Amino acid sequence: MERRETDVKETENRSTGKLSNPQNTIQVIQKHGFAFQKKFGQNFLIDAHVLDKIIAAAGVTADDMVLEIGPGIGTMTQYLAERARQVTAVEIDTNLIPILKETLSDYDNVTVINEDILKVDIKKLAEEYNAGKPIKVVANLPYYITTPIIMGLFESGVPIDNITVMVQKEVADRMQVGPGSKDYGALSLAVQYYAEPYIVANVPPNCFIPRPNVGSAVIRLTRHQTPPVEVKDRELMFKLIRASFNQRRKTLLNGLNNSPELSFGKEQIAAAIEQLGVPAAVRGEALTLEQFARLSDLLGELSLIHISEPTRLQ
Ligand code: SAM
Repeated sequence: MERRETDVKETENRSTGKLSNPQNTIQVIQKHGFAFQKKFGQNFLIDAHVLDKIIAAAGVTADDMVLEIGPGIGTMTQYLAERARQVTAVEIDTNLIPILKETLSDYDNVTVINEDILKVDIKKLAEEYNAGKPIKVVANLPYYITTPIIMGLFESGVPIDNITVMVQKEVADRMQVGPGSKDYGALSLAVQYYAEPYIVANVPPNCFIPRPNVGSAVIRLTRHQTPPVEVKDRELMFKLIRASFNQRRKTLLNGLNNSPELSFGKEQIAAAIEQLGVPAAVRGEALTLEQFARLSDLLGELSLIHISEPTRLQ
């Protein structure tokens, strides 16, 4: 009985001291004389409702290891630490480290690493803190490096269950849409190859200190167990996708033909497009992920015929 009362008291203390209360955030910032750095994309969350939504969408449980990118002064970290088994938070700004030490002093399941997330070996962290099992990534991301962070997580083979992150609203839209939308592009296809995107909530600027000058959204990317399409050469497919959207206003044929990354002949490309069964003047933005995969296989096969023919004649 006594123990339960202590637990309740402790929870109360923690919740009144929570940084999602804007007064507490302001107090911590003033106490430490912290100066926001625009170059690090520092907009701290001050809305408990939004934080609850993010944590619920990520589905954090007491078994989980969570990687948090950019803990700031530890607002979301406090929420994560109360639910996860282990939270590993990577923060680039050295000025925030002593603050985090103080705001996270109640928790013994948080490790803060003062590093640039783009330079950290995340696979090694997953091995060290989660025995190589899939981790959850939860963050209010620094918007200036959203794409390299997300693509880096997918491409480097880090075992991942889901990535639930706050991003710029337009970027969330680009990740989620399919062909026919003006927002559809290389990012949509890359994200959807690796994961199932779902926009959890739109978040207005007044939920942050300082207020960002763009709208934000929380998106959950649930890692596919197996990719939604089969493709023989994934690298080639992504080269085709990049080439198609680099020259958005050109036809697919011209876009692929002009790309310095590709060396197919114009006739080969035209033949593959015909075999794909789409109009000759089609634009890349009309193709689905399945069609890019098939086009990649067709071009791969055609180039093999091209290479093997002279060999046969000899
Ligand atoms: N999680 C906090 C919150 O929600 O209040 C802060 C989020 S703020 C949008 C982004 C955080 O990422 C900042 O603390 C910033 O210093 C940090 N950051 C920026 N670039 C980073 C990088 N390359 N590696 C690690 N952290 C970075």
